[in-house]
Amino acid sequence: MSIISDSLKRIKPSPTISVTQKARELRDAGKDVIGLGAGEPDFDTPDNIKEAAIKAIKEGHTKYTAVDGTADLKQAIVEKFKKENNLSYTTDQITVGAGGKHVIYNLMMATLNKGDEVIIPAPYWVSYPDIVLLAGANPIVIECPEEQGFKLSAKDLEASITNNTKWVILNSPSNPTGACYTEQEIKNLAHVLKRKPHVNILSDDIYEHITYEGFKFYTIAQIPELKNKVITMNGVSKSYAMTGWRIGYAAGDKEVIKAIAKIQSQSTTNPSSVSQAAAVEALKGTQEFIPIRSLAFQERRDFVVNSLNSISGISCIKPDGAFYVFPSCKDLIGKKDKKGKKLENDSDFVQSLLENNNVAVVQGSAFGLDGYFRISYATSMKNLEKAMSRIKEFCESLT
Ligand SMILES: *Cc1c(COP(=O)(O)O)cnc(C)c1O
Repeated sequence: MSIISDSLKRIKPSPTISVTQKARELRDAGKDVIGLGAGEPDFDTPDNIKEAAIKAIKEGHTKYTAVDGTADLKQAIVEKFKKENNLSYTTDQITVGAGGKHVIYNLMMATLNKGDEVIIPAPYWVSYPDIVLLAGANPIVIECPEEQGFKLSAKDLEASITNNTKWVILNSPSNPTGACYTEQEIKNLAHVLKRKPHVNILSDDIYEHITYEGFKFYTIAQIPELKNKVITMNGVSKSYAMTGWRIGYAAGDKEVIKAIAKIQSQSTTNPSSVSQAAAVEALKGTQEFIPIRSLAFQERRDFVVNSLNSISGISCIKPDGAFYVFPSCKDLIGKKDKKGKKLENDSDFVQSLLENNNVAVVQGSAFGLDGYFRISYATSMKNLEKAMSRIKEFCESLT
Protein backbone atom coordinates (compact mmCIF):
# COMPACT_ATOMS: atom_id res chain seq x y z
CA MET A 1 0.00 0.00 0.00
CA SER A 2 1.35 3.38 -0.95
CA ILE A 3 1.63 5.96 1.79
CA ILE A 4 0.83 8.76 -0.70
CA SER A 5 -2.60 10.43 -0.48
CA ASP A 6 -5.28 9.93 -3.11
CA SER A 7 -5.48 13.66 -3.77
CA LEU A 8 -1.76 13.87 -4.51
CA LYS A 9 -2.11 10.96 -6.91
CA ARG A 10 -4.57 13.04 -8.93
CA ILE A 11 -1.88 15.50 -9.99
CA LYS A 12 0.92 14.81 -12.43
CA PRO A 13 4.54 15.83 -12.09
CA SER A 14 5.12 19.19 -13.75
CA PRO A 15 5.47 18.65 -17.51
CA THR A 16 7.95 21.51 -17.67
CA ILE A 17 10.33 19.57 -15.44
CA SER A 18 11.50 17.12 -18.11
CA VAL A 19 12.86 19.95 -20.27
CA THR A 20 14.44 21.75 -17.32
CA GLN A 21 15.96 18.48 -16.09
CA LYS A 22 17.31 17.65 -19.53
CA ALA A 23 18.80 21.16 -19.86
CA ARG A 24 20.51 20.74 -16.49
CA GLU A 25 21.98 17.37 -17.52
CA LEU A 26 23.34 18.83 -20.76
CA ARG A 27 24.83 21.81 -18.92
CA ASP A 28 26.44 19.47 -16.36
CA ALA A 29 27.91 17.54 -19.27
CA GLY A 30 29.66 20.75 -20.34
CA LYS A 31 27.26 21.87 -23.10
CA ASP A 32 26.57 25.57 -23.61
CA VAL A 33 22.79 25.47 -23.18
CA ILE A 34 20.74 28.69 -23.37
CA GLY A 35 17.72 28.49 -21.09
CA LEU A 36 14.62 30.36 -22.23
CA GLY A 37 12.42 28.57 -19.72
CA ALA A 38 12.69 30.92 -16.76
CA GLY A 39 9.45 32.25 -15.31
CA GLU A 40 11.04 35.15 -13.47
CA PRO A 41 12.47 38.59 -14.31
CA ASP A 42 16.25 38.59 -14.76
CA PHE A 43 16.48 42.05 -13.14
CA ASP A 44 17.70 42.49 -9.57
CA THR A 45 15.37 43.75 -6.81
CA PRO A 46 15.69 47.58 -6.69
CA ASP A 47 18.00 48.94 -3.97
CA ASN A 48 15.37 50.98 -2.10
CA ILE A 49 13.48 47.72 -1.49
CA LYS A 50 16.57 45.85 -0.30
CA GLU A 51 17.39 48.75 2.06
CA ALA A 52 13.89 48.58 3.56
CA ALA A 53 14.43 44.89 4.32
CA ILE A 54 17.80 45.55 5.96
CA LYS A 55 16.25 48.30 8.05
CA ALA A 56 13.42 45.97 9.12
CA ILE A 57 15.93 43.37 10.29
CA LYS A 58 17.94 45.96 12.24
CA GLU A 59 14.81 47.36 13.85
CA GLY A 60 13.81 43.90 15.05
CA HIS A 61 10.92 43.09 12.73
CA THR A 62 11.92 39.47 13.02
CA LYS A 63 8.94 37.95 14.86
CA TYR A 64 5.64 36.39 13.82
CA THR A 65 3.29 38.91 12.27
CA ALA A 66 -0.50 38.93 11.91
CA VAL A 67 -1.47 35.76 10.00
CA ASP A 68 -2.77 37.51 6.89
CA GLY A 69 -0.26 40.37 6.74
CA THR A 70 1.00 43.33 8.77
CA ALA A 71 -1.24 46.38 9.16
CA ASP A 72 1.35 48.44 7.24
CA LEU A 73 1.40 46.12 4.26
CA LYS A 74 -2.38 45.73 4.12
CA GLN A 75 -2.69 49.52 4.17
CA ALA A 76 -0.12 49.82 1.35
CA ILE A 77 -2.13 47.27 -0.67
CA VAL A 78 -5.38 49.16 -0.06
CA GLU A 79 -3.66 52.33 -1.36
CA LYS A 80 -2.24 50.48 -4.36
CA PHE A 81 -5.69 49.26 -5.43
CA LYS A 82 -7.14 52.73 -5.01
CA LYS A 83 -4.36 54.55 -6.83
CA GLU A 84 -3.68 52.12 -9.68
CA ASN A 85 -7.02 50.40 -10.24
CA ASN A 86 -9.54 52.82 -8.74
CA LEU A 87 -10.76 49.99 -6.49
CA SER A 88 -11.81 50.68 -2.89
CA TYR A 89 -11.19 47.99 -0.30
CA THR A 90 -10.94 48.00 3.47
CA THR A 91 -8.03 46.22 5.16
CA ASP A 92 -10.30 43.31 6.18
CA GLN A 93 -10.74 42.61 2.46
CA ILE A 94 -7.01 42.06 1.98
CA THR A 95 -4.89 38.97 2.61
CA VAL A 96 -1.15 38.44 2.19
CA GLY A 97 0.51 35.08 1.54
CA ALA A 98 3.92 33.63 0.73
CA GLY A 99 3.61 34.47 -2.98
CA GLY A 100 0.66 34.75 -5.32
CA LYS A 101 0.73 31.01 -5.90
CA HIS A 102 0.24 30.42 -2.18
CA VAL A 103 -2.75 32.77 -2.14
CA ILE A 104 -4.35 30.87 -5.06
CA TYR A 105 -3.66 27.57 -3.33
CA ASN A 106 -5.26 28.80 -0.09
CA LEU A 107 -8.22 30.21 -2.00
CA MET A 108 -8.93 26.95 -3.81
CA MET A 109 -8.49 24.87 -0.64
CA ALA A 110 -10.82 27.22 1.20
CA THR A 111 -13.63 27.19 -1.35
CA LEU A 112 -13.69 24.02 -3.46
CA ASN A 113 -15.74 20.89 -2.79
CA LYS A 114 -15.78 17.59 -4.66
CA GLY A 115 -17.72 18.04 -7.90
CA ASP A 116 -17.07 21.77 -8.18
CA GLU A 117 -15.78 22.99 -11.53
CA VAL A 118 -13.18 25.64 -12.26
CA ILE A 119 -13.03 27.10 -15.76
CA ILE A 120 -9.43 27.51 -16.93
CA PRO A 121 -8.76 29.11 -20.33
CA ALA A 122 -5.84 27.44 -22.15
CA PRO A 123 -2.99 28.16 -22.70
CA TYR A 124 -2.90 28.37 -18.90
CA TRP A 125 -0.35 28.80 -16.14
CA VAL A 126 0.65 25.23 -15.25
CA SER A 127 -0.30 25.51 -11.57
CA TYR A 128 -4.02 26.26 -12.01
CA PRO A 129 -5.28 22.78 -13.01
CA ASP A 130 -3.11 20.97 -10.50
CA ILE A 131 -4.13 23.20 -7.59
CA VAL A 132 -7.78 22.59 -8.52
CA LEU A 133 -7.17 18.83 -8.67
CA LEU A 134 -5.38 18.89 -5.31
CA ALA A 135 -8.41 20.61 -3.84
CA GLY A 136 -10.52 17.69 -5.10
CA ALA A 137 -12.43 19.63 -7.78
CA ASN A 138 -12.51 19.47 -11.59
CA PRO A 139 -10.58 21.79 -13.91
CA ILE A 140 -12.61 22.60 -17.04
CA VAL A 141 -10.09 23.60 -19.68
CA ILE A 142 -11.24 25.74 -22.61
CA GLU A 143 -8.83 26.02 -25.51
CA CYS A 144 -8.43 29.60 -26.75
CA PRO A 145 -6.97 29.46 -30.25
CA GLU A 146 -4.32 31.75 -31.67
CA GLU A 147 -6.96 33.34 -33.97
CA GLN A 148 -8.56 34.71 -30.78
CA GLY A 149 -5.19 35.98 -29.59
CA PHE A 150 -5.20 33.05 -27.12
CA LYS A 151 -8.00 34.81 -25.26
CA LEU A 152 -11.30 33.47 -23.91
CA SER A 153 -14.38 34.55 -25.86
CA ALA A 154 -17.65 35.42 -24.18
CA LYS A 155 -19.35 32.70 -26.24
CA ASP A 156 -16.96 29.94 -25.11
CA LEU A 157 -17.20 31.15 -21.53
CA GLU A 158 -20.99 31.03 -21.59
CA ALA A 159 -21.03 27.55 -23.14
CA SER A 160 -18.77 26.10 -20.46
CA ILE A 161 -20.60 27.38 -17.39
CA THR A 162 -22.67 24.72 -15.59
CA ASN A 163 -24.49 24.64 -12.26
CA ASN A 164 -21.28 23.27 -10.76
CA THR A 165 -19.02 26.11 -11.91
CA LYS A 166 -17.49 27.76 -8.87
CA TRP A 167 -14.63 29.77 -10.34
CA VAL A 168 -13.43 31.17 -13.61
CA ILE A 169 -9.73 32.00 -13.68
CA LEU A 170 -8.57 34.98 -15.74
CA ASN A 171 -4.90 35.88 -16.19
CA SER A 172 -3.96 39.07 -18.03
CA PRO A 173 -1.22 39.73 -19.05
CA SER A 174 -0.91 35.99 -19.50
CA ASN A 175 1.70 33.43 -18.72
CA PRO A 176 2.46 31.66 -21.13
CA THR A 177 1.25 33.79 -24.08
CA GLY A 178 1.69 37.43 -22.98
CA ALA A 179 -1.91 38.05 -24.16
CA CYS A 180 -3.68 41.01 -22.53
CA TYR A 181 -7.45 41.50 -22.34
CA THR A 182 -8.62 44.96 -23.33
CA GLU A 183 -11.27 46.75 -21.33
CA GLN A 184 -13.85 45.84 -23.98
CA GLU A 185 -12.88 42.15 -23.93
CA ILE A 186 -13.24 42.07 -20.13
CA LYS A 187 -16.60 43.80 -20.43
CA ASN A 188 -17.74 41.14 -22.91
CA LEU A 189 -16.88 38.39 -20.41
CA ALA A 190 -18.48 40.39 -17.62
CA HIS A 191 -21.70 40.59 -19.61
CA VAL A 192 -21.94 36.78 -19.37
CA LEU A 193 -20.82 36.58 -15.75
CA LYS A 194 -23.30 39.17 -14.51
CA ARG A 195 -26.06 36.73 -15.45
CA LYS A 196 -24.38 33.83 -13.57
CA PRO A 197 -24.35 34.90 -9.94
CA HIS A 198 -23.13 31.48 -8.68
CA VAL A 199 -19.84 31.89 -10.58
CA ASN A 200 -16.89 33.55 -8.84
CA ILE A 201 -13.90 35.01 -10.62
CA LEU A 202 -10.22 34.76 -9.77
CA SER A 203 -8.29 37.49 -11.56
CA ASP A 204 -4.55 36.78 -11.60
CA ASP A 205 -3.02 40.24 -12.19
CA ILE A 206 0.58 39.31 -11.37
CA TYR A 207 1.92 40.81 -14.65
CA GLU A 208 -0.06 44.07 -14.33
CA HIS A 209 3.06 46.22 -14.53
CA ILE A 210 4.66 44.50 -17.48
CA THR A 211 2.76 45.89 -20.48
CA TYR A 212 3.92 47.63 -23.66
CA GLU A 213 3.25 50.62 -25.88
CA GLY A 214 0.75 52.20 -23.54
CA PHE A 215 -1.52 49.15 -23.27
CA LYS A 216 -4.17 50.16 -20.74
CA PHE A 217 -4.44 47.53 -18.03
CA TYR A 218 -8.00 46.77 -16.93
CA THR A 219 -9.13 44.26 -14.31
CA ILE A 220 -12.54 42.64 -13.93
CA ALA A 221 -13.08 43.82 -10.33
CA GLN A 222 -13.48 47.29 -11.88
CA ILE A 223 -16.93 46.19 -13.06
CA PRO A 224 -19.13 47.34 -10.14
CA GLU A 225 -21.76 44.56 -10.46
CA LEU A 226 -19.04 41.90 -10.27
CA LYS A 227 -16.67 43.39 -7.70
CA ASN A 228 -18.01 41.24 -4.83
CA LYS A 229 -17.64 38.07 -6.90
CA VAL A 230 -14.01 38.74 -7.82
CA ILE A 231 -10.88 37.81 -5.90
CA THR A 232 -8.06 39.86 -7.37
CA MET A 233 -4.65 38.28 -6.88
CA ASN A 234 -1.44 40.21 -7.33
CA GLY A 235 2.02 40.32 -5.81
CA VAL A 236 5.48 41.82 -5.89
CA SER A 237 7.31 38.91 -7.60
CA LYS A 238 7.04 40.07 -11.20
CA SER A 239 6.38 43.81 -10.78
CA TYR A 240 9.39 44.45 -8.56
CA ALA A 241 11.66 41.53 -9.50
CA MET A 242 11.08 39.98 -6.06
CA THR A 243 10.37 36.30 -6.82
CA GLY A 244 12.57 35.04 -4.00
CA TRP A 245 10.97 37.21 -1.33
CA ARG A 246 7.65 35.31 -1.55
CA ILE A 247 4.96 37.95 -1.09
CA GLY A 248 1.62 37.82 -2.89
CA TYR A 249 -1.77 39.19 -1.95
CA ALA A 250 -5.45 39.19 -2.79
CA ALA A 251 -8.48 41.41 -2.31
CA GLY A 252 -12.17 40.62 -2.30
CA ASP A 253 -15.14 39.46 -0.31
CA LYS A 254 -14.53 39.47 3.47
CA GLU A 255 -15.82 35.95 4.06
CA VAL A 256 -13.48 34.45 1.46
CA ILE A 257 -10.54 36.55 2.64
CA LYS A 258 -11.16 35.34 6.20
CA ALA A 259 -11.30 31.72 5.04
CA ILE A 260 -7.91 32.14 3.34
CA ALA A 261 -6.46 33.40 6.63
CA LYS A 262 -7.92 30.41 8.48
CA ILE A 263 -6.04 27.98 6.23
CA GLN A 264 -2.88 30.03 6.50
CA SER A 265 -3.14 30.07 10.32
CA GLN A 266 -2.92 26.27 10.29
CA SER A 267 -0.16 26.00 7.71
CA THR A 268 2.46 28.70 7.18
CA THR A 269 1.17 31.08 9.92
CA ASN A 270 2.36 34.31 8.27
CA PRO A 271 4.46 35.41 5.32
CA SER A 272 8.04 36.43 6.18
CA SER A 273 8.13 39.56 8.36
CA VAL A 274 11.19 40.95 6.58
CA SER A 275 9.73 40.36 3.12
CA GLN A 276 6.52 42.11 4.14
CA ALA A 277 8.51 45.20 5.17
CA ALA A 278 10.27 45.09 1.79
CA ALA A 279 6.90 44.79 0.01
CA VAL A 280 5.64 47.95 1.77
CA GLU A 281 8.56 49.85 0.25
CA ALA A 282 7.96 48.22 -3.15
CA LEU A 283 4.33 49.42 -3.19
CA LYS A 284 4.83 52.83 -1.56
CA GLY A 285 8.34 53.82 -2.65
CA THR A 286 9.52 55.12 -6.00
CA GLN A 287 7.98 53.37 -9.01
CA GLU A 288 10.57 54.65 -11.49
CA PHE A 289 11.96 51.15 -12.00
CA ILE A 290 8.74 49.95 -13.68
CA PRO A 291 8.71 51.97 -16.95
CA ILE A 292 12.48 51.52 -17.38
CA ARG A 293 12.18 47.77 -17.04
CA SER A 294 9.13 47.63 -19.35
CA LEU A 295 11.07 49.45 -22.04
CA ALA A 296 13.91 46.93 -21.79
CA PHE A 297 11.44 44.03 -22.02
CA GLN A 298 9.69 45.66 -24.98
CA GLU A 299 12.95 45.92 -26.90
CA ARG A 300 13.56 42.22 -26.30
CA ARG A 301 10.00 41.29 -27.25
CA ASP A 302 10.31 43.14 -30.55
CA PHE A 303 13.62 41.48 -31.31
CA VAL A 304 12.35 37.99 -30.45
CA VAL A 305 9.05 38.31 -32.34
CA ASN A 306 10.77 39.70 -35.46
CA SER A 307 13.46 37.01 -35.36
CA LEU A 308 10.91 34.21 -34.96
CA ASN A 309 8.75 35.48 -37.79
CA SER A 310 11.77 35.52 -40.10
CA ILE A 311 12.16 31.76 -39.60
CA SER A 312 10.38 29.62 -42.16
CA GLY A 313 7.87 27.32 -40.40
CA ILE A 314 7.56 29.47 -37.26
CA SER A 315 4.97 32.19 -36.67
CA CYS A 316 4.51 34.33 -33.62
CA ILE A 317 1.94 36.94 -32.63
CA LYS A 318 3.19 40.01 -30.79
CA PRO A 319 1.72 40.15 -27.29
CA ASP A 320 1.07 43.30 -25.23
CA GLY A 321 2.51 42.13 -21.92
CA ALA A 322 4.42 39.76 -19.61
CA PHE A 323 7.82 38.45 -20.77
CA TYR A 324 6.73 35.46 -22.83
CA VAL A 325 5.93 34.72 -26.43
CA PHE A 326 4.08 31.65 -27.65
CA PRO A 327 5.12 30.88 -31.23
CA SER A 328 3.58 28.18 -33.40
CA CYS A 329 5.74 25.30 -34.65
CA LYS A 330 2.79 23.51 -36.28
CA ASP A 331 4.26 23.79 -39.78
CA LEU A 332 7.37 21.90 -38.68
CA ILE A 333 5.58 18.98 -37.04
CA GLY A 334 6.06 15.82 -39.10
CA LYS A 335 9.56 16.83 -40.27
CA LYS A 336 12.75 14.97 -39.38
CA ASP A 337 15.72 16.32 -37.46
CA LYS A 338 19.42 15.85 -38.34
CA LYS A 339 19.48 12.52 -36.55
CA GLY A 340 16.53 11.31 -38.59
CA LYS A 341 14.08 11.51 -35.70
CA LYS A 342 10.55 12.42 -36.74
CA LEU A 343 9.01 15.30 -34.77
CA GLU A 344 5.54 14.02 -33.95
CA ASN A 345 4.43 16.90 -31.71
CA ASP A 346 5.60 20.04 -29.89
CA SER A 347 7.30 17.98 -27.16
CA ASP A 348 9.49 16.27 -29.78
CA PHE A 349 10.20 19.70 -31.29
CA VAL A 350 11.49 21.22 -28.04
CA GLN A 351 13.41 18.07 -27.12
CA SER A 352 15.15 17.96 -30.49
CA LEU A 353 15.88 21.74 -30.35
CA LEU A 354 17.55 21.19 -27.00
CA GLU A 355 19.54 18.12 -28.00
CA ASN A 356 20.67 19.42 -31.39
CA ASN A 357 21.02 23.18 -30.91
CA ASN A 358 21.19 23.67 -27.14
CA VAL A 359 18.21 25.96 -26.55
CA ALA A 360 15.74 25.11 -23.79
CA VAL A 361 12.11 26.19 -24.28
CA VAL A 362 8.85 24.66 -23.03
CA GLN A 363 6.33 22.81 -25.21
CA GLY A 364 2.88 24.38 -25.62
CA SER A 365 1.13 21.17 -24.58
CA ALA A 366 2.49 21.74 -21.06
CA PHE A 367 0.20 24.81 -20.98
CA GLY A 368 -2.76 23.03 -22.53
CA LEU A 369 -2.32 23.94 -26.24
CA ASP A 370 -0.48 21.69 -28.70
CA GLY A 371 1.65 22.90 -31.59
CA TYR A 372 3.36 25.80 -29.83
CA PHE A 373 6.24 26.51 -27.50
CA ARG A 374 6.87 29.13 -24.84
CA ILE A 375 9.89 31.40 -24.86
CA SER A 376 10.70 33.52 -21.84
CA TYR A 377 12.71 36.59 -22.86
CA ALA A 378 13.65 37.42 -19.29
CA THR A 379 17.31 37.06 -20.20
CA SER A 380 19.98 39.29 -21.75
CA MET A 381 19.83 40.58 -25.33
CA LYS A 382 23.12 38.75 -25.90
CA ASN A 383 21.56 35.41 -24.92
CA LEU A 384 18.48 36.14 -26.99
CA GLU A 385 20.55 36.93 -30.08
CA LYS A 386 22.44 33.65 -29.74
CA ALA A 387 19.27 31.71 -29.01
CA MET A 388 17.39 33.13 -32.01
CA SER A 389 20.15 32.21 -34.43
CA ARG A 390 20.28 28.71 -32.97
CA ILE A 391 16.51 28.29 -33.33
CA LYS A 392 16.77 29.46 -36.94
CA GLU A 393 19.58 27.01 -37.61
CA PHE A 394 17.59 24.20 -36.02
CA CYS A 395 14.44 24.91 -38.01
CA GLU A 396 16.39 25.13 -41.26
CA SER A 397 18.04 21.77 -40.52
CA LEU A 398 14.67 19.99 -40.46
CA THR A 399 13.74 18.01 -43.55
C1 LIG B 1 4.69 33.94 -11.33
C2 LIG B 1 3.20 33.77 -11.39
C3 LIG B 1 2.37 33.79 -10.24
C4 LIG B 1 2.78 33.92 -8.81
O1 LIG B 1 4.04 34.06 -8.49
P1 LIG B 1 4.48 34.19 -6.97
O2 LIG B 1 5.96 34.29 -7.06
O3 LIG B 1 4.00 32.97 -6.26
O4 LIG B 1 3.85 35.43 -6.44
C5 LIG B 1 1.01 33.70 -10.41
N1 LIG B 1 0.47 33.57 -11.62
C6 LIG B 1 1.21 33.54 -12.73
C7 LIG B 1 0.52 33.44 -14.03
C8 LIG B 1 2.61 33.62 -12.66
O5 LIG B 1 3.33 33.55 -13.79
